[in-house]
Amino acid sequence: MVKRVYNFYAGPATLPLSVVEKASKNVLEFEGLGLSIMEISHRAKEFDNVIKEAQKDVKELMGLGDDYHVLFLQGGASLQFHMIPLNLMVSDKPALYVNTGAWSKKAIKECSILDKENTKVVASSESKNFSFIPNGFDVPQNASYLHITTNNTISGTEYHYIPEAGNVPLIADMSSDALCRKLDFNKFALIYAGAQKNLGPAGTTLVVIRDDMVKRCESKNLPTLLNYKTHVDKESLFNTPSVFAVYVVHLVLKWIKDEMGGLENVEKYNRKKASLLYSAIDEMGDFYNGTAEKDSRSLMNVTFRLPDEELEKKFVAKAAEKNLIGLKGHRSVGGIRASIYNAFPYEGVEKLVDFMKEFRKNN
Ligand SMILES: *Cc1c(COP(=O)(O)O)cnc(C)c1O
Repeated sequence: MVKRVYNFYAGPATLPLSVVEKASKNVLEFEGLGLSIMEISHRAKEFDNVIKEAQKDVKELMGLGDDYHVLFLQGGASLQFHMIPLNLMVSDKPALYVNTGAWSKKAIKECSILDKENTKVVASSESKNFSFIPNGFDVPQNASYLHITTNNTISGTEYHYIPEAGNVPLIADMSSDALCRKLDFNKFALIYAGAQKNLGPAGTTLVVIRDDMVKRCESKNLPTLLNYKTHVDKESLFNTPSVFAVYVVHLVLKWIKDEMGGLENVEKYNRKKASLLYSAIDEMGDFYNGTAEKDSRSLMNVTFRLPDEELEKKFVAKAAEKNLIGLKGHRSVGGIRASIYNAFPYEGVEKLVDFMKEFRKNN
């Protein structure tokens, strides 16, 4: 048995133990081939099976139609901030953004580098410290696309509805909540997610793109590697992909399907974990203060404050002594953040709640 702590870090984040074990075996020798998964050619048929299976499983879990392509790219979600406007902006049609936090702001910034005039923020929760998800905003129809961040990793808020965009293609950064629940994924023209939060290790980024969006890049004269069309045509094998990272994502997708029993069960499990933790926060409301408005609370990143910063420091340190690690909030906002992604075990949330009760009593 290996030693396992309860890892509340926001990303890179906890992985299912069974996935880590399986990966470790294949780091030594991949499927009896006499070499490691880290040494195999990305053109080998064994790796081709891995990436094709992963693409198929993403489509199946998301229930996507045949007009979608699944890519595993590099450069993180952060490169997508720029690739999206670069590939998908149509001249004189503004790109629309909802500003729900630090990651949205970065996406907006990358678009305005390309075309400041046509970068438009249609709704924002900045005036209230990003503590809620805007609803009921207007989406002008003469637009290139509408971009949202479905889960705000730093402020701990999440969309619990899909905005009505009409004819405007809807694009979502799902870096911190991809495959955490059932959604009508066919409502999106493009979905992207850095793998290291909910899908696998760092090093690859999932991009799901619809045919009509690929068409938009065809006529653009873009650097080869920055053009979605390149990656769609070569099925993510234009250049060497992150072989190991894609392999582990493939194992995580199998884990969702075979061990968790699909997205519905993953969602149930996530709701059970989040509800245990939020109930504890609310019950001890004299000491713990949830920072997200109740109807916008994230299933993945639970953020809260203690009466003062000294106590928060102590809380993080004492929790670590009990093997509850990574509870410090993002450096830009402070406070406490418990990231409880798909692979985070329910027992870990129970342990945290017990610790919170004890800490409140003693302080
Ligand atoms: C972590 C994160 C990113 C950045 O991901 P990188 O892969 O590090 O570029 C973008 N968006 C959201 C919502 C995130 O949580």
